[in-house]
Amino acid sequence: MNVQMRLTDGNKVFRRNTDPALLSRLAVKAEPSIAILSCSDCRVIPEKVFNLSIGDAFVVRIAGNSASDPAVMGSLEYAVRTLHIRTILVLGHTDCGAVKAALEDEAHEGLGGVARDIDQARKLLSGCEANNVDAIAEANVKLQMGQIANGGRVIRDAMASGKLAIVGGMYDLSTGFVRLL
Ligand SMILES: [Zn+2]
Repeated sequence: MNVQMRLTDGNKVFRRNTDPALLSRLAVKAEPSIAILSCSDCRVIPEKVFNLSIGDAFVVRIAGNSASDPAVMGSLEYAVRTLHIRTILVLGHTDCGAVKAALEDEAHEGLGGVARDIDQARKLLSGCEANNVDAIAEANVKLQMGQIANGGRVIRDAMASGKLAIVGGMYDLSTGFVRLL
C-alpha cells in the first residue's frame, strides 16, 4: 500500500470511529486543557502517551523539544493568551535522536538552534553524565522549561499571577512510562 492510500484509508477509519457530535462541538470551540512541547520522534505521540482525545491538548512538536525557535515560543504564547492554557508540559524522551545527532555533529549542520540547546544542556552536566544521552535529554527539558518561563511577556505575566505552571517529563521509549520532573 502506498503512503497516500494508507493516509486515505486511515482517515476513513478515524472518521468512522469519531463521534460526529464531538467534531461539531470542537469545530465551534477548542478548549484544550494542556499545551505540550514534545520531540517530533514518531515513537513519542503525546495524545497516545497520555490517552488524550481529540481536542484535549495543544501540541507543538519539534526535534529535541526545543523552544528556541520563535515560532515555537509564539505557538506556546498563543496557547496561553488565546486558549487560556494553564499548564505547559515539556516532554523529552530516552534515546533521543536529536540529542545523539547534536553530539555526533559538532558543526550542527541542519539542526541549528536545537543543537545549540543540546550543547547548552550538556554544559549543565558534569562527569560521565555530560556524555549520557538520556541525562542530556533531561537537562534539555529543564533548560526548555526555563526558556519558556523567561520567554514572552504573556507567559511571564501568567506565571507571575499563578495562572500558568510549566512542568517537565521524560518518556521512556522502552516502557512507555513518563517520569514527571
Ligand atoms: Zn527526540
